[in-house]
Amino acid sequence: MVKFGPAGHSASFALDGKKHTYEMPEWLKNKGLDIFEYSFGRGVNIKEDSARKIGDEAKKYGIEITVHAPYYINFATEEQDKYQNNFRYVMQSLETLNYFGGQRVVIHTASQGKLDRKVALANASRALEELASRACSAGFGDKLLCLETMGKKSQIGTVDEIVDFCKISPIFIPTLDFGHINACFQGILKTKDDYRREIDKVFEGLGEEKAKKVHIHFSKIQYSQAGEVRHLTFEDDKYGPDFEPLAETIIEYGMNPYVICESAGTQAEDALSMKTEFIKLRDNSLQI
Ligand SMILES: [Zn+2]
Repeated sequence: MVKFGPAGHSASFALDGKKHTYEMPEWLKNKGLDIFEYSFGRGVNIKEDSARKIGDEAKKYGIEITVHAPYYINFATEEQDKYQNNFRYVMQSLETLNYFGGQRVVIHTASQGKLDRKVALANASRALEELASRACSAGFGDKLLCLETMGKKSQIGTVDEIVDFCKISPIFIPTLDFGHINACFQGILKTKDDYRREIDKVFEGLGEEKAKKVHIHFSKIQYSQAGEVRHLTFEDDKYGPDFEPLAETIIEYGMNPYVICESAGTQAEDALSMKTEFIKLRDNSLQI
């Protein structure tokens, strides 16, 4: 089943008088959404009992929780302290994901920094191999670590790079962030063919099973020559990308991705508009 939901608290959550994340599952259920992505962008700082409380509510309302690991992870680093910390951030994210009763953790793999890109890629590859083995030995072999495509040229994470990383272990699948892909390559996603081209790389590189269950981030993102500048809302009609050709591709390929919206403030509303549009297109395609 294709699932939709927001990353983090949208402005409307507070406007509806809600404050705590444990109130989120019921609120999302009432809106008709399916997932909530909990961001540990600045660190994993939630206590076990709070996380379990959110997990209990999620289970009660049939909402799945996914987790975003800290943003500053960099598996290409050659500094020992930072290198070791990367593993700690992912392991903490996985432990908390367990308390939430969830399955997926999103990870930014690396930055190029001052390294040659080939060296950065080789470093990250080696580290990811170690990560997969540590995660499996720690009992997280049933989780999915969703490695994300990034929005800035200085970051590691083109679709090709992420597909290569995901070949390392069965627990790695891609997070295709189409806003990032569009921003990094100056607006390349316009038509259905543009989306097919990117998704075909996943089917060809990783096979049907992984390709059909990819994690997706979707938002409109302002960009400059260096790539991503900032996340926008679906009100934007300048930068894109548009969801409709992606929805058509998901239907055509029979995929069941999780689609997370990262709009700036309107992520719940924009997630719902994607879900509504997707269902309409799917029902139309069934009638033909
Ligand atoms: Zn991300």
